[in-house]
Amino acid sequence: GRVLLTGGSGFIASHVLDTLLDAGFQVVVTARSEEKGETIVESVKPHQLSYAVVEDIAKEGAFDHVFQTQAPFDYVVHTASPYHLNVQDPVKEFLDPAIKGTTGVLRSIKAHGPTVKRLVITSSSAAILNPGNHPEVYDETCWAPTTYEDAINHPAKNGYRASKVLAEKAAWAFVENEKPNFDLAVINCTYVFGPIQRKLASLEAMNTSNHRVRNMVQGKNKDGLDPTAPVFTWVDVRDVALAHLRAMTVPKAGGNRFYVAGSYFSNKQIADVIRERFPSLADRLPADAVDDLPGDVFRFNNRKSREVLGIEYTSLEKCITDTVGSILAVFPDV
Ligand code: NDP
Repeated sequence: GRVLLTGGSGFIASHVLDTLLDAGFQVVVTARSEEKGETIVESVKPHQLSYAVVEDIAKEGAFDHVFQTQAPFDYVVHTASPYHLNVQDPVKEFLDPAIKGTTGVLRSIKAHGPTVKRLVITSSSAAILNPGNHPEVYDETCWAPTTYEDAINHPAKNGYRASKVLAEKAAWAFVENEKPNFDLAVINCTYVFGPIQRKLASLEAMNTSNHRVRNMVQGKNKDGLDPTAPVFTWVDVRDVALAHLRAMTVPKAGGNRFYVAGSYFSNKQIADVIRERFPSLADRLPADAVDDLPGDVFRFNNRKSREVLGIEYTSLEKCITDTVGSILAVFPDV
């Protein structure tokens, strides 16, 4: 089968790509420039790969030319969406690319992709969680209440969260209203750690969720753990990639969202794994950190991802070991 994968330069996409190629799919990735497209092709050699340039997913009809020149596709996996922490303009930087990018993919498939059977979208646990008022247990029935106005009023706190929940809602609404030729499955993954892209340009270009591990390896938390970002659930990027593949191929996954979250972590646990597995980095790590996983952390249920998608979650020890190993392999002078 043939798959269109958007946002091919991204961290999660790089693992989705590996997983798709290993499973024997032909893949076309989108990238924002020819240079990025060529870098992705280099990164998967000797696998065969082609790419199409989509400079800005927020532009009207951004994906049309991809379908017009590279079709037919059996599946589309839409991962492209901004995720960073220094927002200035929430509409330009988050809401437009997330929401218009998603509806743009849906419209292009409907108009120019009659062979597409399923679209898989990378949403987020950000579209599920409600930090102001946790339910008893989070699962796929939960929706973040964040609105467009919340993003405008508090861009740093709500810009990304709103972009994910509103983009996902727009996707479900499109499928419900337009009754297109394809169905939809959504991956709501939590905070993702894992090996970085093999051709990552710089340590600064590293995806946001791996910054915690990078910062620790660079000695930035030597004098104490980073108290920011209250995220305490995590998942290995290879589990996330497999979840995308299965959401694409398992027939009954269609029409579902999947909360893909492995387990809890604390920043101290990350430091402890690095200290144990990379003794030469020990003097860069916080010495007597207190475990920062709160006692009253929220509960979650990942049963659907295990039962329908068959995910067996990777351990934190393996994930952090492989993540640090990948950083040192690409940037020995980290
Ligand atoms: P990356 O930053 O590594 O990847 C984001 C991708 O989106 C890149 O390919 C980027 O292109 C592309 N992109 C962003 N804005 C645009 C735009 N306006 N036009 C075209 N392409 C654009 O992040 P991740 O791999 O972590 O994120 C991938 C997806 O996973 C996102 O949808 C994110 O919301 C979701 N997610 C991530 C989590 C995590 O912890 N990492 C957790 C839950 C969900 P370029 O490289 O050229 O900038």
